[in-house]
Amino acid sequence: MLGATGSIGLSTLDVIARHPERYAVFALTAFSRVAELAGLCLRHRPAFAVVADAAAAALLQAQLADAGLATRVLVGEAGLAEVAAHPEVDAVMAAIVGAAGLTPTLAAVEAGKKVLLANKEALVMSGALFMQAVRRSGAQLLPIDSEHNAIFQCLPVDYSRGLGAVGVRRILLTASGGPFRETPLAQLDAVTPEQACAHPNWSMGRKISVDSASMMNKGLELIEACWLFDAPPSRVEVVVHPQSVIHSLVDYIDGSVLAQLGNPDMRTPIAHALAWPERIDSGVAPLDLFAIARLDFQAPDEQRFPCLRLARLAAEQGGTAPAMLNAANEVAVQAFLERRIRFPEIARIIDHVLSAEAVLPVEQLACVFEADRRARVRAEHWLNRRA
Ligand code: NDP
Ligand code: MG
Repeated sequence: MLGATGSIGLSTLDVIARHPERYAVFALTAFSRVAELAGLCLRHRPAFAVVADAAAAALLQAQLADAGLATRVLVGEAGLAEVAAHPEVDAVMAAIVGAAGLTPTLAAVEAGKKVLLANKEALVMSGALFMQAVRRSGAQLLPIDSEHNAIFQCLPVDYSRGLGAVGVRRILLTASGGPFRETPLAQLDAVTPEQACAHPNWSMGRKISVDSASMMNKGLELIEACWLFDAPPSRVEVVVHPQSVIHSLVDYIDGSVLAQLGNPDMRTPIAHALAWPERIDSGVAPLDLFAIARLDFQAPDEQRFPCLRLARLAAEQGGTAPAMLNAANEVAVQAFLERRIRFPEIARIIDHVLSAEAVLPVEQLACVFEADRRARVRAEHWLNRRA
């Protein structure tokens, strides 16, 4: 469990705890929330735990030893990669947020694990190389992102033959529109991180919550869908659906449109991917269609949500463009959460970075990390100039 202390991590542990006969936790990782990680270790008794630095590791190791646990504590990126690729591991939940998840997630892919992918940023950054590594190692990649999990459920098992070959016309990616779907445009300048993180339907980590408010989350998901399902960006359409009950749809050439529905609770896609191709109880309440009563759909408004347009552009450009988009967004979201910039400036920073930096082909992973680094420098420069 990479990112055990996060929103996806905790939902995954909730599902796993319902099925002790099926699952045992081998390793739990965290970054800053070490006390929370200690609590999770006491409950789930993993063989390994991973934290960010040696001081936190020493503290945690002592605490776990006092409690009589033999859990070994490892440190940093090397520790994350070690547990992700460990021979005793069958499945890896990749739930670290942001670019920090790329190296450990790739370690799991290269070791041929069953990889449950929540960390969309890893795939957005390194798309082609990531998918090549999946094919080379024989890893089984299962999407946790609710939209992609829904699409996976609506596609035939042999979809890797090509979407055209299996009769798919379009993928319809649903989006709630976030907390600012109807906020007057003039008021977006004044919205706070608290308002941005108060998502109407989903409870999530702060970074993805801000991404949902700007709809960059849907932009990243568009790129994610292109890689997962080998689709050109033109085949992926975004549909605003405020109730978040339909998690996405697949439109076939015969006019059939298949959708996956459910309550907005990440334990459903997590349980689906964990048990696939079987089904297990996730703890999610049955869908009450009478209580929902209606489902609404709208076209996305790119004036309100410029991040969506920027992400589509990066998807079309390919090469290092998605990695730069992601890096500029990570810097901008952090600056917004720290109240250094206003909400609409998130898109302005990303636009600036993408227009200032040349898009290069990606031949190896080093190109991705270099593009990520350059985009961060460029975004920081924008922030400093603004200050
Ligand atoms: P959270 O912020 O809640 O959790 C992030 C996890 O990653 C925490 O365990 C955190 O540790 C760890 N982490 C953060 N930074 C680092 C780092 N530099 N190195 C190692 N570990 C780190 O995020 P979410 O659970 O919301 O999201 C996780 C991923 O899943 C994201 O990529 C997100 O886009 C994706 N996702 C999330 C959904 C959701 O409903 N939450 C839905 C669909 C996708 P610590 O707690 O110690 O800081
Ligand atoms: Mg999603």
